[in-house]
Amino acid sequence: MHLTGLNAVELSALVETLGEPPYRGRQIFGALYRRRLRSFEEMMDLPKSFRAALAERATASTLTLESRYISEDGTRRYLMKTHDGLPVETVFIPEERRDTICFSSQSGCPLQCDFCLTAKLGLLRTLTAGEIVEQVVFALNDAYGVGVKTPRGTNLVAMGAGEPFLAFEPLMKALRIMADPAGLYIVPNRVTVSTAGVVPRIRELALIPDRPHLAISLAAPTDEQRDVLMPINRKWPLAELLAACREFELSLKPGERFTFEYVMLDGVNDSDEHARKLANLLNRHQLRAKVNLIPHNPADPLPYRPTPPAQVERFKNLLEAKGVHAYVRRPRGRDIYAACGQLAARRSGNNPQEQTLHQLS
Ligand code: SF4
Repeated sequence: MHLTGLNAVELSALVETLGEPPYRGRQIFGALYRRRLRSFEEMMDLPKSFRAALAERATASTLTLESRYISEDGTRRYLMKTHDGLPVETVFIPEERRDTICFSSQSGCPLQCDFCLTAKLGLLRTLTAGEIVEQVVFALNDAYGVGVKTPRGTNLVAMGAGEPFLAFEPLMKALRIMADPAGLYIVPNRVTVSTAGVVPRIRELALIPDRPHLAISLAAPTDEQRDVLMPINRKWPLAELLAACREFELSLKPGERFTFEYVMLDGVNDSDEHARKLANLLNRHQLRAKVNLIPHNPADPLPYRPTPPAQVERFKNLLEAKGVHAYVRRPRGRDIYAACGQLAARRSGNNPQEQTLHQLS
């Protein structure tokens, strides 16, 4: 049994089955999520006999670090393995105002987005709530020290490997656990979930009161092109997707954010005509959400190149001229395969900054 991923009520119920009072459950909760301990041996405030009883039937952590890569811009990529040997990748992105952790919701991904290296892995497995929370615990400990308070709080983005809305239950459970003030205390307002367009889940999220911010990956302004770049479009075409987006936008409360993402592929979806079509599409559906323009992050064997900066700027201006707010996202961690669409359990690429587990210990 993996204790990371259990909430306070579940931990109390567990300790009761071991003949311990419920407050022991709260102690374990604090140890796992506030003190960010990953083994029972470190939980010195628990009696030795109780730690031994716990260790007999449960574990505090299941992910093991395989490699850590550090980019020249300070971004860190962690390649970890699940207990059944599957790759899990997490990225820590230092930022001026607030650092961000990008976590994975699946090992690999079943969606075949044509510009994404993760797609080449296929789906290996959906991660559990515990495996999602553990990625965040691991990255925080590595960046700041075990249990050390984060200097400016933390933002989370579910933009690593996998389609978060195909991991909806474990994802939402992990977010609830991480929001608990007695633990990590990362509230939904600090979290953004990015989807390729799983329409029923967008509708479901529109009904949830305490929810993360939402981002929708578009990549093309027409069904014809989106069918090729993001095959999920064949299941939920643009008209259906954008109708759900409109419902979601109408449900927004003050302070909530809703954005579109548009990966820019040189000579493919980045012409002036594409910009005009995209603006018209969003205006037709009365959508006011901002568009984040993401120059593609190249990676062999993907057949795409990033749009040159001048055309990215032109594209942005064309959108703005038609009343669509746009923002150009700066790529982070490209040199270590940590940028958007590059997570594919790469062991090193050309990066001399790889640190294997052996070197770290
Ligand atoms: S872009 Fe996201 S949803 Fe699409 S294949 Fe890659 S990881 Fe999956």
